Amino acid sequence: MSARYLVVGAGFAGSVMARELAEAGYRAHVIDRRPHVAGNAFDEHDSNGILVHRYGPHIFHTNGERIFAYLSRFTEWRPYEHRVRGVVDGTSYPFPINRDTLNQLYGLDLDEAGAAALFERVREPRDPVVTSEDVVLNSVGRDLYEKFFLNYTRKQWGLDPSELKAGVAARIPVRTDTDDRYFTDTFQAMPKDGYTRMFERMLDHPNITVELGVEFDNVRAAEDFDHIVYTGPIDAFFGFRFGHLPYRSLRFEHEYLPDVDQYQETGTINYPNDHAYTRITEFKHLTGQVHAGTSIVREYPQAEGDPYYPVPRAENEALFKRYEALAKEESNVTFVGRLAQYRYYNMDQVVGAALAAARQLID
Ligand code: FAD
Ligand code: UDP
Repeated sequence: MSARYLVVGAGFAGSVMARELAEAGYRAHVIDRRPHVAGNAFDEHDSNGILVHRYGPHIFHTNGERIFAYLSRFTEWRPYEHRVRGVVDGTSYPFPINRDTLNQLYGLDLDEAGAAALFERVREPRDPVVTSEDVVLNSVGRDLYEKFFLNYTRKQWGLDPSELKAGVAARIPVRTDTDDRYFTDTFQAMPKDGYTRMFERMLDHPNITVELGVEFDNVRAAEDFDHIVYTGPIDAFFGFRFGHLPYRSLRFEHEYLPDVDQYQETGTINYPNDHAYTRITEFKHLTGQVHAGTSIVREYPQAEGDPYYPVPRAENEALFKRYEALAKEESNVTFVGRLAQYRYYNMDQVVGAALAAARQLID
């Protein structure tokens, strides 16, 4: 009999692992406590027939040709370059900050060199750059920090940028040109029939079985598996032995607007300084769907609820390291994914991590 794997979680980490194991001839039994596959990338048609992302907007982008090619086995793509604007004092500006943002905000007519000179004049050099506050002040200075970053970050994380590692704000570039795309990756596209369909195809293999609405704790003792692939929160696996690792949550407020063809000019609009939500996303921009109405989602950050984001700060990473040390002693368990590795991974990075972890098990 070939080895039996229990895969906990049917998101990117679990599904890619299951597929790789299955193709190597092993049997993979995938469980998820949710009633659906695809993890946080799950999409569905709402009651009005618009394809929406239940857990917030997911835009696929990667520089990894291998990762894009891998997923392309399970989906065709719709090219899509995401654009975002940030509203400050009632006016929306291109975000990430670029030359047009500066010219519009300050009533200037800067060229590329002029924009670079402005950043050089207003920046507050920091050395070393350790926190997210350091990153932003070091590159664009205090005024732009306070207009676009400070309050958004406080709202999103419940923390001051000075309490978060540099990597959080460093996700956002600063530009002297007029490129207004959110991402500049080589591959930027949405799965043509949606994420859920892509996952269904990935999991469609004779060696894979999927059981939904199943809690790991209810099967971990009962069933006999040779190896476990665990993609849930690492602290939960160990019964919170060292205390809870903070994960930031969100509440999603979905709304359908009948007879509105287009609600906003870009896929996402960020509201750094107003409202309890951080941003509004209009799905038709992402999917290209044609429909008489439109569906949007507002994201309200909160401490409690489903774990969505690891919180990158030094003390949390120290706590994670203690759990990671326990994980290393579990020779029959592989920990992979955003929650199990406690890393602020994008989807493509989770695919990369899962492919690497699968190789370790197969070779
Ligand atoms: P998950 O998708 O969280 O899957 C883990 C699964 O395990 C879940 O389905 C969960 O139900 C299940 N599970 C956990 N514990 C148990 C248990 N005890 N028993 C049974 N099942 C369990 N990435 C991008 O690249 N682009 C984006 O635009 C983007 N936007 C995002 C927007 C939001 C609001 C969020 C929250 C994330 C976004 N991401 C984006 C990140 C992306 O969602 C993740 O990188 C990816 O989905 C992580 O996959 P995963 O398999 O590691 O985890
Ligand atoms: N950020 C900000 N203002 C914005 C957008 C982002 O201050 O208008 C900061 C904030 O700390 C946020 C981080 O940059 O958490 C990363 O933003 P991104 O859009 O990548 O977050 P995600 O899509 O992962 O929620």
